[in-house]
Amino acid sequence: MSEKIPTEKSKKKRKQEDEYFAREEARKIAEHRERLNLERAEAEKKHLKEKCWMRCPKCGHELKEKEFQKVMIDQCESCGGIWLDAGELEMLTASSSSRGRSTDSGFIQGLLKSVTKPRA
Ligand SMILES: [Zn+2]
Repeated sequence: MSEKIPTEKSKKKRKQEDEYFAREEARKIAEHRERLNLERAEAEKKHLKEKCWMRCPKCGHELKEKEFQKVMIDQCESCGGIWLDAGELEMLTASSSSRGRSTDSGFIQGLLKSVTKPRA
């Protein structure tokens, strides 16, 4: 085996290779970090859903489904709070409007106008 004496050209090439591998390593680390962050966010989302599913957001007790004007609403067994899923308020508005109860639908429509739609 013979060792070559590094020339200026080979030193420059070696430096370029080192820089390339350093960039590749940094890119792989960034990708790995991003993947871990996504996995962590997914796990947190899953954990929250398991922990909060059908639980009262005010007191944490169990929610029971009840039928009200043909709409299934969620009511807390402890504090009595009533929770509506997305679209259920609109269904109740339509239901009370079709029965001509203008005072009720006026109240619900006013409530509907005052709340903004959550992100999908
Ligand atoms: Zn409650």
